Amino acid sequence: MKMSKMFVQTLREFPSDAEVISHKMLARAGYIKKLTSGVYNYMPLMWRVLKKIETIVREEMDKAGAQELLMPFVQPKELWEESGRWDAYGKELMRLKDRHDRVMCLGPTHEEIITALGRDVLKSYKQLPVNLYQIQSKFRDEVRPRYGLLRGREFIMKDAYSFDTSQEGLDKEYKNMAQAYKKIFDRCGLATKMVQSDSGAIGGSVSHEFMVITDTDAGENDVFYCDDCDYAANSNHAVSNLLPAEVNGEKYFSKTEILDTPNTHSIDELAGFLNIPPTLILKTLVYVVDKKPVLALIRGDRTVEETKLMNAVGGLDIRIATSAEIAELMAEKGFEAVPGFIGPQGMDGVRIIADETVRDMKNFVVGINQTDKHLVGANLEKDIPHIEEFKDIRLVEAGDLCPQCGKPLKVTQGIEVGNIFQLGTKYSAPMKAVYLDENGKTHPYIMGCYGIGISRTAAAAVEAHNDEHGIKWPIAIAPYHVVIVPVNIKDELQMKVANDMYEKLLQAGVEVVLDDRDERAGVKFKDADLIGFPFRVTVGKTINDGLVEYKVRESGEMTTLKPDEAVDELISRILNK
Ligand code: ATP
Ligand code: MG
Repeated sequence: MKMSKMFVQTLREFPSDAEVISHKMLARAGYIKKLTSGVYNYMPLMWRVLKKIETIVREEMDKAGAQELLMPFVQPKELWEESGRWDAYGKELMRLKDRHDRVMCLGPTHEEIITALGRDVLKSYKQLPVNLYQIQSKFRDEVRPRYGLLRGREFIMKDAYSFDTSQEGLDKEYKNMAQAYKKIFDRCGLATKMVQSDSGAIGGSVSHEFMVITDTDAGENDVFYCDDCDYAANSNHAVSNLLPAEVNGEKYFSKTEILDTPNTHSIDELAGFLNIPPTLILKTLVYVVDKKPVLALIRGDRTVEETKLMNAVGGLDIRIATSAEIAELMAEKGFEAVPGFIGPQGMDGVRIIADETVRDMKNFVVGINQTDKHLVGANLEKDIPHIEEFKDIRLVEAGDLCPQCGKPLKVTQGIEVGNIFQLGTKYSAPMKAVYLDENGKTHPYIMGCYGIGISRTAAAAVEAHNDEHGIKWPIAIAPYHVVIVPVNIKDELQMKVANDMYEKLLQAGVEVVLDDRDERAGVKFKDADLIGFPFRVTVGKTINDGLVEYKVRESGEMTTLKPDEAVDELISRILNK
């Protein structure tokens, strides 16, 4: 490829809406161009990277025994009604009507379509197990499309779906996919951690995410992990054991009584006012789950994890209540308390979930729905006996103890690039997708599904491999391997050597760009670093002594070699690795 002909536009500045490195660099280096919010053109450089990732994914999926197909991007409402997700999926599902007023949606994922397809084709146990995959654009009307390709609305995904006749079969395929995923990300030059996770809108019981660990803003997930064993989990799923804490307030409160606690709206203010540790305060939070109020109770020093709470309630949508909603709830129950003084007493009819930390609390402090007052020296059985649902709804904190081995947990940030799920019969049962066994009896398929964000993986690779000058692509997914930069295109010898090397490398199968633009060398070097070619060969004045300069982007290592030596070195490093 000649640089002068390349359809690329590098920018002098980072685009103003770009917050994270990968978005900034991919936009500035001319890989992507925004069409509208969360929707991008993949320019030729980007498309080469994406195709390389796709090739690695295809090779490993095929090796793992999966078969590729391609399903439609537009999906009919009826199938989503069969699975029950038409109402459950929420606003991310982009719904539309055709000219006959038939309601459709743009595929955010394909469980419904594949289950219907399986139902039509996989009639007998003899046809099972099978694993089918596709690589395709998905559309999710994300609330906050941001971070460029990391969270787009239209993005490219590999999604695979397995059909089995037993849980053992699914377990085996799940492991098979986990291994294939590890190989895929390793080959892409990405270190990943496989972590336990919540199953979210896809559903099912067991699921794991593949996270690229990063200390940048782009890591949207907190991952808790243990250095001493293999425990690792997304914060939405992580559990922990707690260090001992003061949970009995007998030394502060000799009797149960209502005290004035003016202006103590926060746990810190209340603990300070009463001069007690926050572990002696029972915190009450009001949430709205699927439009209904829910009270969450937790020990004062801990935080509620919303996904865990939502799962405990069995809901699909959760948010913290607004002040107006809290006021409405208070009025309904005949109270007038403002936030900070809410408590479970007198809240009959409202679902109350208590975190397990609440169980051990004795002689504690709790809101009683009276502004500027709290009950102190309270106890569960005596003062709030109607609390029945104790669940783990707390956010793990670094330093909590590993649930597997008891060592302190650590926390880091991760970008989710892949996700595998055990679906079981979540789709096959409601959609009546069944096969006949040896005895002619019907059973729903036991299913799994397995996703990889192709475009997110590319962006995650940039997050993981860059420096202040630009991208440092891993060789396996770089758009091109080498750039040859003649310093002065008017110098005949320089151009002859550059062209000659270019031809030799092309012939050998190296992907090479010749920067034949009439630009200053400085400009070309800057672009080469920004675009992130793994190798650069500069043909400048030293060619008069028969030498070119050879530079490795990753390490910065620079040497002078004869042109033929440089060609041999490149061929061996790129093609024989
Ligand atoms: P997230 O939690 O980041 O919104 P998700 O868990 O909803 O993602 P899945 O349904 O598991 O996503 O989709 C499979 C894969 O598709 C994800 O692991 C991720 O790599 C990719 N993906 C999901 N949403 C997006 C998006 N908006 N932009 C780019 N890639 C995405
Ligand atoms: Mg996911």
